Amino acid sequence: MNFATATINELKRAMETGETTSVEIVKACLGRCEELNGALNAFVEIYQDEAMAQARIWDKARADGKELPVLAGIPIGVKDCILVKGHTASAGSKILSNYKAAYDATVALRLKKAGAIIFGRTNMDEFAMGSSTETSAYGPTKNPWNTNKVPGGSSGGSAAAVAAGLVPVALGSDTGGSVRQPASLTGIVGLKPTYGRVSRYGLIALASSLDQIGVFARDAKDIALILEVIGGRDPRDATSVETDVTIPELISEDIKGLKIGIPKEYFMEGMDAEVRARVEEARDVLAKGGAEIIEISLPHTEYALAAYYVIMPSEASSNLARFDGMRYGKPEESSTLEERYVKTRSAQFGREAKRRILLGTYALSSGYYDAYYKKALQVRAKIREDFDKAFSGKAGPGSAGQDVDVILTPTSPSVAWDIGEKFDDPITMYLADIYTVSVNLAGLPGISLPCGFVDNLPVGMQLIGKPFDEYTLLRAGAYYQSKTDWHQQSPGLDI
Ligand code: GLN
Repeated sequence: MNFATATINELKRAMETGETTSVEIVKACLGRCEELNGALNAFVEIYQDEAMAQARIWDKARADGKELPVLAGIPIGVKDCILVKGHTASAGSKILSNYKAAYDATVALRLKKAGAIIFGRTNMDEFAMGSSTETSAYGPTKNPWNTNKVPGGSSGGSAAAVAAGLVPVALGSDTGGSVRQPASLTGIVGLKPTYGRVSRYGLIALASSLDQIGVFARDAKDIALILEVIGGRDPRDATSVETDVTIPELISEDIKGLKIGIPKEYFMEGMDAEVRARVEEARDVLAKGGAEIIEISLPHTEYALAAYYVIMPSEASSNLARFDGMRYGKPEESSTLEERYVKTRSAQFGREAKRRILLGTYALSSGYYDAYYKKALQVRAKIREDFDKAFSGKAGPGSAGQDVDVILTPTSPSVAWDIGEKFDDPITMYLADIYTVSVNLAGLPGISLPCGFVDNLPVGMQLIGKPFDEYTLLRAGAYYQSKTDWHQQSPGLDI
């Protein structure tokens, strides 16, 4: 069996039939990391001994005929901002390089209970600020399809790890696209759940009203499996919601009558013509399966990026106040308290973190609060209203009375770009998030699915769903994947 391309559903079956064992799977992952992680920098730490020890435990339990939990013996990568008890969690930042998690994030706990093996922590942009995984204190992650290119960000380590076959599945976090965009740029599936579906307890916060933990995998069915395990109400996160976490058996053969909205504002200048063509081909595959394609309008789309880049830094500036060399971080030499704050934060935060702290502090300061932060919140409400209307049949020309079930857009305006290309140009970097941030502002679920290639680099399409309707996204995704094989392509990786 090819461990580098197998889905977790396949791995589960192979363990059940005795074709393989958890030890063999973990060994295969370790071997693959040995060979490739040096060049890709996807994992910043691998829990080799622990992973092997757990694999042995699960194999023994299986051999003893015990009843096993759903993810027994399956290795999973976890982004460096999700706490795993006893391990370093540094959020890609120097300031947290000495921080060891004293407790498990709820998602980590639920995964462990379900039998998953936490394999290691993956690289990320510092505090999840970025779209390329270049702002990490551990250096950039490389795109497995072309190691001169970025893997997207901020969860680029998790995306590269799954795309390169280092692990079958990984967790990321998505504040403005950080699961969907790297999934798109590395040719895998990435889901950002509805705000509130997955507990944020134990996730190092970037912007608390936007953050959601998401999943990377090779197909939609694997995502469903992980979502069932990690989702649902958690008393430790007041924003988490009791949902029916059971995703019914995915019916991949039938999307007849599914109403797919195509927002005209997402297909405009600035996007690569070839990317557009791939997404339109994907639309046609869905149409052929009986989906109804409806043009809709989301009129406030053009303000989304501006609103996001006020709200996100505002919340980030407040969340990052605790990293001060007193509560967190190794203090720099200083003679006064103020000097300690200034020196520690100056030395241990990277450039992008500083930029956003400055932006956010400015937007929240008295005198500017109404002009920036409050205005951005008003825009956010308008954006949410646009989606509400689309999902209830009131979204603009041609769509009166036709409520859509999902909305189809590109995930990213371009394929992966060269490492360094946008690094010194924050505005251009921010523009890469143009198709993903609205989903976070509106708190909706979104999935990116591989839908072809441009210049040998993967292209992703995004499906956006109604709140808590991940099921429809996954069903449409599973249908699409039963008709196409983009998700089965893997990079050559002759590194
Ligand atoms: N690229 C976006 C940003 O830089 C999104 C980050 C994220 O989702 N964590 O803020």
